[in-house]
Amino acid sequence: MYRILCMLLVVFAAIQTIVTAAPSAQVTWDAFRYNAASTTIYTINTSNNVKEVHYRIWRTADGQKKAQTFTAKDKQRNFAFVLDTKQFQSQRGQYEIEAIGIKQNGTTAPLATSALTFQQYVPILMYHSIDDFKGSGLEELYVSPASFEAQVRYLKENGYTPLTFERWNDINRVNKPVFITLDDGYKNNLNALKVFQRLKDERFQPVGTIFVAVGFTGRPKRLSEADLRSMAQSGFFSIQSHTMFHPDLTKVTNYEYELKTSKETIERITGKPVMAFAYPYGFLNDKVVEETKKYYKFAVTIRPGLFIEKGVPDEYYKLPRQFVRYGTTIEEFGRMLQPE
Ligand SMILES: [Zn+2]
Repeated sequence: MYRILCMLLVVFAAIQTIVTAAPSAQVTWDAFRYNAASTTIYTINTSNNVKEVHYRIWRTADGQKKAQTFTAKDKQRNFAFVLDTKQFQSQRGQYEIEAIGIKQNGTTAPLATSALTFQQYVPILMYHSIDDFKGSGLEELYVSPASFEAQVRYLKENGYTPLTFERWNDINRVNKPVFITLDDGYKNNLNALKVFQRLKDERFQPVGTIFVAVGFTGRPKRLSEADLRSMAQSGFFSIQSHTMFHPDLTKVTNYEYELKTSKETIERITGKPVMAFAYPYGFLNDKVVEETKKYYKFAVTIRPGLFIEKGVPDEYYKLPRQFVRYGTTIEEFGRMLQPE
């Protein structure tokens, strides 16, 4: 009995030694600012017989076939290597990194893998009516179906990936993310559906978000419940909230009705989750943001600019948007998609 116990102790001690003697290698990097285009990568905790590290790196959006290999030999500096997006045509987004160790005897061993993100700038485009302007209402709240089609075709031909808020977590995993949003819920948004259907192919899947003021549903110029349901089911549109009746939220107190009831009404109509919100007129204050956070994960404003996460408070509730107007030319449209 005593002998068995001794043997067990010896075995236990041996396992302990192995565990402590072989820390697992890890890929890490210098902290960098949101808009940086490079950082230094390290592999720490490599075993003593690793003499160099080969980094196999590819953009997640491009896949392993486009991987490049870089060599780092300075063990004192934890096999430091500068990853610069210039080496990948300055394309930002998520990168996959595989560290492979080359041992003294020349054999190779996988050490660690990790994912690192140089955030992409995300344009969130804002539209209202998709129709020819015939003199009623504000011209700048219209974009003609022909212009809209030219703009979506521009996105297609320039390699953009339209997303909806359900796929927010993919913004750095796809090429050139872009959000197409249409406010208010006009009946003429059915013209946008036709454009999407025409331009869809194997490679390009246009999708958009309709921010509907759902209390107006059923009025002649607005999308009906049946329209909203069929657009949601088409796979081309996500229906999200723009309140019940489009008030200036900084001047009301019935937040629960405008924010929660609108969300629940849309979810009942479409059978799909609502997680994004558009402030009517882009008006907001601290109170409005606080109330919006109770029911939504994202909220868009009309402040111009492209989104990139800076780590400031409530930035998901102050998302900027690029306003596409009736007179916006295709050159202006192209510039709107680029960071300043
Ligand atoms: Zn509106």
